[in-house]
Amino acid sequence: MSCYEHPVRMEPRAPQATPSELKNGARVKANDVPPAGVYRPNYNVLTPHMRSPEYVQMSTAAALTLGIMSGRMYRCECTRCLNLLLTYPEGCRANCAYCGLARHREAERDYADRNFIRVDWPAVPLAQTIDIVARDGAASPFHRMCISMITHPRSDEDTRTVLRQWTERIDPATIPVSILSNPTTMTRDDVKRLHELGADIFTVALDAATPEIFDRTRGKGVASPHSWAKYWEILLAARDVFGRGKFGAHVIVGMGETERDVLALVQQLVDLGGHSHLFCFFPEKGSLMDHLPATPRDQWRRVQLARYLIDYRGVRVEQMRFDGDGRLVDFGLPAPELEDVIAAGVAFRTSGCPGKFADDVSACDRPYGDSPPSDIASYPFAPNKTDLRRIRRQLRIVPES
Ligand code: SF4
Repeated sequence: MSCYEHPVRMEPRAPQATPSELKNGARVKANDVPPAGVYRPNYNVLTPHMRSPEYVQMSTAAALTLGIMSGRMYRCECTRCLNLLLTYPEGCRANCAYCGLARHREAERDYADRNFIRVDWPAVPLAQTIDIVARDGAASPFHRMCISMITHPRSDEDTRTVLRQWTERIDPATIPVSILSNPTTMTRDDVKRLHELGADIFTVALDAATPEIFDRTRGKGVASPHSWAKYWEILLAARDVFGRGKFGAHVIVGMGETERDVLALVQQLVDLGGHSHLFCFFPEKGSLMDHLPATPRDQWRRVQLARYLIDYRGVRVEQMRFDGDGRLVDFGLPAPELEDVIAAGVAFRTSGCPGKFADDVSACDRPYGDSPPSDIASYPFAPNKTDLRRIRRQLRIVPES
């Protein structure tokens, strides 16, 4: 089914007011339970009082790979990116409509217990995390570390502290560091300082493909502090400071934009010297968009393939053709060449900052961060023949017999 046959307006619910006694992590601060090592989200115990830089949160996949949690992931042995998310009882002060960490959830769930990109994020002492990675040295399964800032008054300073403590023990040439920034609290000097401290890549989570969608989902539309202009100011500062190939933007596909909108943005980023990292919209439980449909797979696959052609095969958006609804109808590449790209499968893997395998293979594989394993959107591994048959069906390209 295509979104063009059954258009849905991707309108977030309005955020509810939070009682003042539950604002700003008041419950966690009042209980003031001292943390005792790794904390796994658990709604049946009082959430400990944990703060960055002493504590960081990490994805379930990263915790499994680090060996501090046991379990197995569907068809994945590990993740190649150790994402460290800053954590505070007050949580993120923004209210992005698609995000499980958003402020409007503070009455319902303590920050450290909130789901984010479909998974739990255990909280771990930073020192313990660094000890394990430093001990493993060049044998570490991680190809990259990423500090994910959130919107909090301390996040700039704490990001620098985490980066400093990491690089004192771990050579950034062995495991390079990316910054997933929070432009709302940042200046150009903050961008420079992170570069001087050894960060390798700087990314900006634009998330929305157009200024209107940005405003509706993470600006005034949901009482959130972000602005498109500020995000672009910091993105352009990152281009100047970090340079060609060392900055990028996250974009969520399927929040109401057309395929032409998102691919025009992808082209703009390439023309500036950067990359785009795509996410397939998924209705995150507890978010203001959890009642809305995930991106139809045909739409997602077309955008995923076209973005790969623009980022890595030199095809330009002007060579592609779109119908009157902005839907991609021609990828701008002769059929045999297009078939080779599809058959290679890399275009359908998770996009993000590179690891050690190849420039076009992301270290940040985010297993099942934007879909359930039963209907994979971004493949965290190389798709096999069965996967590629499914992808071709989703692209509506009939396999050759
Ligand atoms: S700023 Fe980032 S972490 Fe905070 S609500 Fe928005 S998307 Fe979520």
